[in-house]
Amino acid sequence: MKYNLFATAMLFTSSFSNAQSLPLDLTSTMPEIEKFYLDLHQSPELSLHEQVTGRKIADRLAQLGFSVTSNVGGYGVIGIYKNGDGPTVMIRTDTDGLPITEQTGKPYASKVSVINEHGTKVGVMHGCGHDIHMSSFIGTAEQLITHKDKWQGTLMMVAQPAEEVGAGAKAMLKEGLFSKYAKPDHIVALHVSANVPAGKVALKNEYTMASVDSVDIAIKGKGGHGAYPHTTIDPVVLAARSVLAIQTITSRELSPLEPSVITVGSIHGGSKHNVISDEVKLQLTLRSYNPAVRTAQISALKRITAGIAQSAGLEESLYPTVHVHEEESIPSTYNDPAQTNLVRNAIEGAIGKNNVLDTQAVMAGEDFGLYGRTEDNIPITLFWLGGVNPSQYADAKKNNRVLPSLHSSQFAPDYKIAIPTGINAMTHAAVALFN
Ligand SMILES: [Zn+2]
Ligand SMILES: [Zn+2]
Repeated sequence: MKYNLFATAMLFTSSFSNAQSLPLDLTSTMPEIEKFYLDLHQSPELSLHEQVTGRKIADRLAQLGFSVTSNVGGYGVIGIYKNGDGPTVMIRTDTDGLPITEQTGKPYASKVSVINEHGTKVGVMHGCGHDIHMSSFIGTAEQLITHKDKWQGTLMMVAQPAEEVGAGAKAMLKEGLFSKYAKPDHIVALHVSANVPAGKVALKNEYTMASVDSVDIAIKGKGGHGAYPHTTIDPVVLAARSVLAIQTITSRELSPLEPSVITVGSIHGGSKHNVISDEVKLQLTLRSYNPAVRTAQISALKRITAGIAQSAGLEESLYPTVHVHEEESIPSTYNDPAQTNLVRNAIEGAIGKNNVLDTQAVMAGEDFGLYGRTEDNIPITLFWLGGVNPSQYADAKKNNRVLPSLHSSQFAPDYKIAIPTGINAMTHAAVALFN
């Protein structure tokens, strides 16, 4: 994930004294939160397996006085705290780790590994920083309870599993998150950033993250001997033509003003040098902001690949199949402008205006966007929490070095700065939304 940056790096030492409405003192709570972070970091669980993680979150919320429901939509956790009349504000964290072997060299690096479905041993790591999110989430819950005289309403803490496979938000909504538990008036979340310095926050109104679709295309042919190609219709050649023709969807068919990405990430076909096969399989990822662009991408994929099959002389029954994994599809994340302005002002009050940056949208996706796409039409805001050690950030900029991205085995956020900044920013955002 990459976007253009920004102002020059500024060394920001967390100071909580400049918060106007609510001066937070985190000195006494941070050691415990850091312990919580290090424990989560060293015990990551893969998507759909976040059982122990869910239990840890549930225990903490229960200790704080929340009424807690576990195992919602898998290992999702909902904590509700009623504090008089007022709006319902939902704060969301995600909880899953990734199949990555950590190579940060940190003394607290994850050593967890599991055997995957192919029987291979893989490391497990919080390579997307969801452990930072959970620690900020619990710290925020704690601060909001400590300062419950500063707000009125219902606080809804949602720890969502399976973000990395696009399944968790969908599953929690399906199990009645908004109908059985509470219907929020405002929803807010943070995501740690691998290219914003720790101590800062970056955010953007309107579209901030893209929709994501996984698509499988099976390109058919008529196989035979590699020495007699004229007696075959070679699907490898058709696949090669298709991959190139697919590049024209974004570049020639869609408006240059509408972001679109179509990546063919995988191509597999054939079994031997001298055998022309019957089929080649492609796996694609599609990204966009505007739902109309997504529809156009999918219909162009069908038309172009079918056209190539037809031009090769294949009968219609052998035209390619284009399968969109609707169950994994996630929409773009749209930050409601009015709510996001309010959140921005609150965070500026908490950490200082010069520590709140404007950012560009990215083509990465988040299933957080789904919470804003139900028929309830609830405004959502997702902001980026700086994660990079400030001096490493300055050094990388100076020497034109690329920083480890999210999902990198080298990604090591500066948790000592990022987490208190996250707690401070989120607590103030929530109080502003309540009021
Ligand atoms: Zn991720
Ligand atoms: Zn993530």
